[in-house]
Amino acid sequence: METKVCIIGAGPGGATAALQLAQLGIECIVVDKAVFPRDKVCGDGLSGKVLTLLERIDKGIGQRLQEAMFKADSWGVTFVAPNRIGMDIPYRLGYQEDKSNPRGFVCKRIDFDNFLVDEMKRRSEIRLFEGTSIDKYELKPDGYHLSSKDGSFKVKADVVIVANGAHSGFTRDVAGIKMEPKHYVAGIRAYYKGITGLHKDNFIELHFLKNMLPGYIWIFPLPNGEANVGVGMLSNSARNKKVNLKQLMLDTIATDPVMKERFKNAELTGSIDGYGLPLGSKKRKLHGERYMLVGDAGFLIDPFTGEGIGNALYSGRIAAQQAAAAIAANDYSDTFFNAYDEHVYRILGPELQVSTKLQKLIKYPWLFNMLMKMGSRNKQLKDLMSCMFHEVDLRKKLGQPMFYVKLLFNR
Ligand SMILES: Cc1cc2nc3c(=O)[nH]c(=O)nc-3n(C[C@H](O)[C@H](O)[C@H](O)COP(=O)(O)OP(=O)(O)OC[C@H]3O[C@@H](n4cnc5c(N)ncnc54)[C@H](O)[C@@H]3O)c2cc1C
Repeated sequence: METKVCIIGAGPGGATAALQLAQLGIECIVVDKAVFPRDKVCGDGLSGKVLTLLERIDKGIGQRLQEAMFKADSWGVTFVAPNRIGMDIPYRLGYQEDKSNPRGFVCKRIDFDNFLVDEMKRRSEIRLFEGTSIDKYELKPDGYHLSSKDGSFKVKADVVIVANGAHSGFTRDVAGIKMEPKHYVAGIRAYYKGITGLHKDNFIELHFLKNMLPGYIWIFPLPNGEANVGVGMLSNSARNKKVNLKQLMLDTIATDPVMKERFKNAELTGSIDGYGLPLGSKKRKLHGERYMLVGDAGFLIDPFTGEGIGNALYSGRIAAQQAAAAIAANDYSDTFFNAYDEHVYRILGPELQVSTKLQKLIKYPWLFNMLMKMGSRNKQLKDLMSCMFHEVDLRKKLGQPMFYVKLLFNR
């Protein structure tokens, strides 16, 4: 088989690239080793970026996602600092008066990813091969020759969009990007039913409890009384401290005075599973001759929030646009794809840099405590944090030491 563009991986990054190519009238082949619907270990939290980007590709996709029944609309975040002071930060100020257009969702990845696969199946420009793993990749003068291990599936492509997630062999073997524990988070996820004390507007919860630092536990409310509960910790900390994340979560739920009460009648549904989060806390080269890395395969997860779906979508769309430009110019050189990195880092770079600084805040629990204490009493600071969700310039302030100094002296 031959194609202009082959996309490895039909997760959020790969699916978005395919949908954007289809909008541009370019045919592509998408190959995924899984058969959908399939699960993906995740917190299941979708930020406003997701809907914004899907609407940019096709308003219809955004509308169908808004109407989908499998998701819970979420209106904000609750941060709980090590001193237990919590702060509710809505994504949009005054949202209570107008709940017509939610931008944040929680939905199981088995449903969200299948939604995107269904969107791909609506498009005649996209040929999707499920249950097929790409394990061999050979660059020849006429294109990339990709195949399954046993050679039963073969495809030649002018451009390869690599979107096969955190464990991408292509990223490791061809792009030469290795897992580095200080730029990687280890995470586990479970589903529970019957947790009490969830926010009535489905605020997602991040608890930076003392016994978990520098890790944290999250509770993200899903439809039908379910919630996604998990723990994340920087891999080098988890290794150095020899932390068993699963045990840490179960112990916290069983013994922490607040959690114990909230989980009293909760029931674990399914298994507790783990997976890695490759962080964008270090800038990497995301392309080479005839290929671009997208989403987790390009180590693009936000180092502070752990958000990777939105960034997978953004990079997927940019890769599609760059692939279209390469086809038009008939230029598949390494140099031509420089523009992909430039575009990705122009859009995502400022956020990733700020989040890298904020991530370090977790190392200073007293600072975190202070911020929460002040925020819980200070409406201005709370409003500022709400605006932070939309404005990177404001988030930048949070990454600057002077911001805290000014806060301290302006109390
Ligand atoms: C514990 C945990 C919690 C998280 N919580 C959140 C959260 O709440 N919100 C958020 O935004 N992000 C979260 N993330 C990050 C998020 O899950 C990822 O950033 C996101 O899935 C990246 O999408 P992707 O398309 O790049 O990769 P993936 O979603 O991993 O998709 C990759 C696809 O490639 C396929 N594939 C793999 N290898 C091959 C191969 N050789 N050949 C063919 N196909 C292949 C896989 O089957 C898969 O379908 C979390 C991650 C973890 C681990």
